[in-house]
Amino acid sequence: MNAPVTGALRAALPVFAFDTDPAAAFIAANDFDRPTLVVSRARIAAKYDALHDGLGRAHIHYAVKANPAPQVIRTLVKKGSGFDCASRGEIELCLGQGARVEDISFGNTIKRASDVAFAHNVGVTLFAADSEAELEKIAKHAPGARVYIRLIVENSLADWPLSRKFGCAASSLAGLLDYARDLGLVAYGLSFHVGSQTRKSEFWNPVLDQVAPLWHAARAAGHDLQLLNIGGGFPAFYGEHIEAPRRYAARVVEAIEARFGMVPELMAEPGRGLVADAGHIAAEVMLVSRKSADDMHRWVYLDIGRFSGLAETEGEAIRYQIVTPHDGGDTGPCVLAGPSCDSADILYENRPVNLPLALRDGDRVLIRNCGAYTSSYSSVGFNGFPPLDVIVL
Ligand SMILES: *Cc1c(COP(=O)(O)O)cnc(C)c1O
Repeated sequence: MNAPVTGALRAALPVFAFDTDPAAAFIAANDFDRPTLVVSRARIAAKYDALHDGLGRAHIHYAVKANPAPQVIRTLVKKGSGFDCASRGEIELCLGQGARVEDISFGNTIKRASDVAFAHNVGVTLFAADSEAELEKIAKHAPGARVYIRLIVENSLADWPLSRKFGCAASSLAGLLDYARDLGLVAYGLSFHVGSQTRKSEFWNPVLDQVAPLWHAARAAGHDLQLLNIGGGFPAFYGEHIEAPRRYAARVVEAIEARFGMVPELMAEPGRGLVADAGHIAAEVMLVSRKSADDMHRWVYLDIGRFSGLAETEGEAIRYQIVTPHDGGDTGPCVLAGPSCDSADILYENRPVNLPLALRDGDRVLIRNCGAYTSSYSSVGFNGFPPLDVIVL
């Protein structure tokens, strides 16, 4: 898409090389009557190539939840990607966009029994589990399947850690592998997730130090583990320096090989790292106000908030960069909030954002690097606001 690049945003934006950022160019050149995520397929393809190069022989299974736009899935199918799916819906989406069933894994450790049966019937053979009950469910509805056991990561250094919700304790692993075998399943491997937005490749080291001895112990106990699934965690750029994706991925693989030796099959499940930087959100300022004459902070209300796509501002964990037509002018601290009638719909308050003093209602802004975990998190009609619009270039 080669939209002519004009307008106030462009003038304000030395930050962007518009000519090489199709989504930014499109946003600068067009008007939007509601918040819109614009995603560049070319950017995703380039990211895939970089991660693929860095990861070497590891198979990429894109974590579909990061951005389930059908055109995004199809782009990755064409690149040869596999897919990490969490539900029947995601499996159907990938198959519908041409993915081969052997390239799909069912990676959610909390699956509906009928979804397991569906996956088994269409030919999915690789499933995740972290409990006895889930293994029983898989054995019943997908007999003979390959399973990998997900481990809790104790020492995540990620900006968006995944907590103890997923995975089993190290002390349960051996029992679960034995149980899988006893149930007639193939105890195929291990998985973990370092936590999303793990900014530095060296942050993987403590997690790998935790998992490697478990891998070696399981093999010593007679489980012929084939697969090490290293999950996601590959970072996007939100203003803090990150390594180039190829180099980051290569360093992670190096760190794995140093601890695990030669693993028969490596799998990675990038979500954010593949799609976040490929998209930006076109948004608008609804209101700029102060609570009192001596209020230190302005309150800036956007037409998008916590419930319409920016869910990852929860805990102010992910700090999106906001580009305005007044960038370069004087700035002051702002509390940033969404438009809905829920008091939790505040994006940044504990650490206010500095925005131009000239910012006014009606100003169009661009929220950078929003290609991941935005459209898939947007509610269907809270307060009558439509779900986040998506345009794929
Ligand atoms: C969400 C998810 C991912 C993707 O994580 P990112 O940090 O976005 O790369 C990978 N694997 C599993 C099992 C997930 O749930």
